[in-house]
Amino acid sequence: MDTVDAIVVGAGPNGLAAAVTLARAGLSVRVYERAATIGGGARTAELTLPGFLHDVCSAVHPLGIASKFFRDFELDSRIRLVQPEVAYGHPLDGGRAGIAYPSLDQTAQGLGIDGPAWRRMLHPLASRWSELVSYTGGSLLRVPESPFAVAAFGLRVLEQGSPLWSQRFESDVAPAMMSGVAAHSILPLPGLAPAAAGLLLATLAHGVGWPIPVGGSQSIVQSMADDLLARGGEIVTQTEITSLDELPPSRAVLLDVSPKALLSIAGDRVPRRYARALSRFRYGNAVAKLDLALSQPVPWTNVELRRAGTVHVGGTHAQIARAEAIVASGKHSSKPYVLVSQPSVVDDSRAPEGKHVLWAYTHVPRGSDVDQTETIIGQVERFAPGFRDTILSHAGRTAVGEEQMNPNYVGGDISSGAATLGQLVRRPTLSLYPWQTPMTGVYLCSQSTPPGPGVNGSAGWHAARRALAVEFGIRKAPYLGL
Ligand SMILES: Cc1cc2nc3c(=O)[nH]c(=O)nc-3n(C[C@H](O)[C@H](O)[C@H](O)COP(=O)(O)OP(=O)(O)OC[C@H]3O[C@@H](n4cnc5c(N)ncnc54)[C@H](O)[C@@H]3O)c2cc1C
Repeated sequence: MDTVDAIVVGAGPNGLAAAVTLARAGLSVRVYERAATIGGGARTAELTLPGFLHDVCSAVHPLGIASKFFRDFELDSRIRLVQPEVAYGHPLDGGRAGIAYPSLDQTAQGLGIDGPAWRRMLHPLASRWSELVSYTGGSLLRVPESPFAVAAFGLRVLEQGSPLWSQRFESDVAPAMMSGVAAHSILPLPGLAPAAAGLLLATLAHGVGWPIPVGGSQSIVQSMADDLLARGGEIVTQTEITSLDELPPSRAVLLDVSPKALLSIAGDRVPRRYARALSRFRYGNAVAKLDLALSQPVPWTNVELRRAGTVHVGGTHAQIARAEAIVASGKHSSKPYVLVSQPSVVDDSRAPEGKHVLWAYTHVPRGSDVDQTETIIGQVERFAPGFRDTILSHAGRTAVGEEQMNPNYVGGDISSGAATLGQLVRRPTLSLYPWQTPMTGVYLCSQSTPPGPGVNGSAGWHAARRALAVEFGIRKAPYLGL
């Protein structure tokens, strides 16, 4: 009979991290993936014109360097991750901009009057980024190993997530930069969860940088697939699993899916109490994406932005907070926050010589089918006049399109569950081991479990460690390095 020790459903970064961890422990592992290509939220494809390589979802990877899984996996020795000279930039009207360099000192210098306050806010965190990531990279219910780093972080979250947020700074540049990173959370500003997300991202910019993988995000998942295959693992693509009954016998099944899909795939096997808890899990607002092929780099008015890997577009703190509040109320903003990545600034393999790719998305209500192409172009044009004339081709995807591409993004929620403070602790249920379900041998390993969104491999790693301990009696962490 066709049997295997462990099965993983879904070849996203977390599914593959789980599969690699299980295979490294000596198990036979098979991965089923519904799409034709592996990678989930870390794929790269020619979405516009031949020779233009676009990241379909994730583009920028601070956690690709920082997370425990990827550090143990030695990702930075397996693929080339390049650091833009500017980690992220934030244009403001009048040609002004906030610029976050990998160097905290250089960033503080550029912020003038608010430089010392920026430094005081981030130096205690950036100097202890690995302690911080080791806590935020798992269940928040456990006692931190580095209480001082976590306390320093917590105090700043309380400040930046409350009405105190504006007290620290004099000018409008640093607050705009903070709102730019906090808005990654797709939640109203200010708030504790956006502050936590923003402070972590800002910390990583000065701790490890915001690197971009040469060749695109696909190279990250390909390195994981290569490792899995080298250890005898199998990957079956174009196979959607709709029921646990479709799977061959195994001792563990790890699902890189949303709680909504878990309920449907496990069907009658889900105990009623657990089913109720899963159905209380809330999905967040969504994104609409735009990929562009450009004839030249974006003509940002502030020239420093031309060196940035990521640009947060949307203006001042007040303007971004307003745009996010409109989305939170279920409407579309006409002047939204737009997250822009320009990978070809540092990676010339992405586009034919002299040409560029641009990756952008904006926030929209969950389930939106409104095309945001013109809105996104208008917002970039505001800080880069002439941008429209550089566009050779574009490909847009609505929030509904996000879910059609990947059912994990329920209604276009790319975090597979709102990343509110409550749902970062209870993800998807309140448990010391939220990766383990009450069904024997069944685990959830997607970003709907701690630590939540991002290409970090951590949820997959934790789920696999738990399955190894419970189902196979293997408690020692397998070696993952080269
Ligand atoms: C537009 C966008 C931009 C982003 N930008 C960034 C970024 O710059 N940096 C960053 O760190 N993160 C970013 N993210 C988030 C990141 O992509 C996700 O956090 C990450 O991919 C989650 O990994 P995962 O393995 O949990 O799930 P996914 O990546 O969603 O993978 C799940 C996989 O499971 C497959 N699957 C689902 N159901 C089934 C089934 N029933 N049978 C078989 N296969 C199934 C799916 O096809 C998919 O391949 C972005 C996401 C999006 C969508």
